[in-house]
Amino acid sequence: MKLLNKMPLRLRLTILTALVLTVICMLLTITSVFNAQKIYSVPAEDYNSNTSPSNPSMNRPPVTEDETNNDFTYASIVYMFIMIVLGTCASYFIAGKALKPVADLSKSIENIDESKLFQRLEGFNTNDEVARLAKSFNHMILKLEKSFNHQKQFAANAAHELRTPLAGIIANIEVLQLDENPTVQEYKEVLEDTLANAQRLSTLVHDLLKMNTAFNADHFVNIDVKEMFDVIILALSESSKDKNIRVENNISGIMLSGEKSLLQRAFFNLVQNAMKYNKRNGEVVITAAQNDDVVTVTIEDTGIGIPEDELEHIFEPFYRVDTSRSRELGGSGLGLSIVKTIIEKHNGNILIESEVGNFSKVTVMLPKN
Ligand code: ATP
Ligand code: MG
Repeated sequence: MKLLNKMPLRLRLTILTALVLTVICMLLTITSVFNAQKIYSVPAEDYNSNTSPSNPSMNRPPVTEDETNNDFTYASIVYMFIMIVLGTCASYFIAGKALKPVADLSKSIENIDESKLFQRLEGFNTNDEVARLAKSFNHMILKLEKSFNHQKQFAANAAHELRTPLAGIIANIEVLQLDENPTVQEYKEVLEDTLANAQRLSTLVHDLLKMNTAFNADHFVNIDVKEMFDVIILALSESSKDKNIRVENNISGIMLSGEKSLLQRAFFNLVQNAMKYNKRNGEVVITAAQNDDVVTVTIEDTGIGIPEDELEHIFEPFYRVDTSRSRELGGSGLGLSIVKTIIEKHNGNILIESEVGNFSKVTVMLPKN
């Protein structure tokens, strides 16, 4: 059976059909030989008693019962073998015809590699299993193509983002090298600039790693949502002072189950955005509500808002509405992408409503347990 499984499907089908054919032919032959022996055999003595002097042909030597039977059996066996051989050849031919679409499909699939993910299987328009397989394959290749392009885009963006601070560091050092007698002040400036760039690199690498952090549901703990936001607001208090932004934490008595460091990171990014993209003397209001299964947290700011047509993109890695302004504010465009990854890892949902020049409101829904 193992040997059979290793054979091509066409050969396997042919061998199985030949086996069935052989058994049927043998049974038929045995039955007919057995019946012939019973019904058509003429005993020799009957023949002898019927000889007639008027009919010389009747006077030939008698054909015995054994001889008749032997001839019939011999002929039956020969025909049986001929039938088996013909039947096997026919089944090999028919199996080839029936499996041709499968062979075509496999040939078309072999032609698609990672550089041809845009290609689709065409010409399988029948309504059978092969056409369904081709359709599923096309569907899978579409998803692969999207994911492949996404990865390529991500790698290109990551390289671009890493290149900018690295180029800054190199340029600073080269300028210093050209100066024959740099002053202490110049050294200090270059060091400060290099430190800022290195910190930017470090945050970027940290964020990229965070996006690929393995999720472990065993690390789930009960989290007091109000306390978590108090910690976040305290950590961001310096930046809120700069623009004189008032942050209101209106949460009380709401608990949530999740991986604490990850959720804290997600909400930190959201509150940070609400402050960063706010106006001078603006406001950030944080609220939460719960029902039996879901905790809903909202973070609303009175900031610059996001244009409607940009809303669908802002969760994409490295996407920024106003690139130069966001970079000026120290953003790399990974914050919301990390938030979405974390919330989805907790089986939650996130949505943003906004009006340019007026407000942005982020709603996060998380399963309570
Ligand atoms: P990072 O968070 O990585 O430091 P970032 O803040 O630029 O950088 P995201 O947090 O992913 O990146 O945000 C993506 C873009 O969405 C931002 O550049 C900004 O243009 C826009 N955005 C996000 N939150 C708000 C908000 N509350 N108000 C207005 N615009 C926002
Ligand atoms: Mg951000």
